[in-house]
Amino acid sequence: MNQDNNGEGREESIEDLTSKVFKLIVEQGKEGILQSRLWKELNLTSRDGSRIAMRLEKRGLVTRQRVLENGRWTFRLIAVRLPLDTTSIEGAPCITCNLESMCTVDGSVSPNTCRLIENWVLVEMSKKIDEEKGSEATTTSTPSPSTPTATS
Ligand code: SF4
Repeated sequence: MNQDNNGEGREESIEDLTSKVFKLIVEQGKEGILQSRLWKELNLTSRDGSRIAMRLEKRGLVTRQRVLENGRWTFRLIAVRLPLDTTSIEGAPCITCNLESMCTVDGSVSPNTCRLIENWVLVEMSKKIDEEKGSEATTTSTPSPSTPTATS
């Protein structure tokens, strides 16, 4: 996967690539990204890229919308849910999950019933809340900009 032209592999694990692909898709927001552009940016073959996109779709993380672009049919990849920021994606359990191949939205292994994803969301949410509390505390503890001075 992801080899140089001379055949010497620039070995990158499927998890790393999946994580990169997902992060890039999320960064495009609601518009998503054309898969051809994504493959180009990550130097992926369309075969490898399509496999990764299908894995993400199967996990319910992205949708693939068929679109006509310059007279050719292709797919636009769009994140199903957009996180508040993309840094948290790197720790998403789905990226390195052993059950990934069995995980589907309506299967017995599913994001809808997954404890790992639930815990991850809760931890990310509590981090966000802590961050917000921290910035509020900084704002409220700031001293008043002007202290009245006595004039005589
Ligand atoms: S089982 Fe959970 S962690 Fe694994 S791929 Fe499915 S939703 Fe993600």
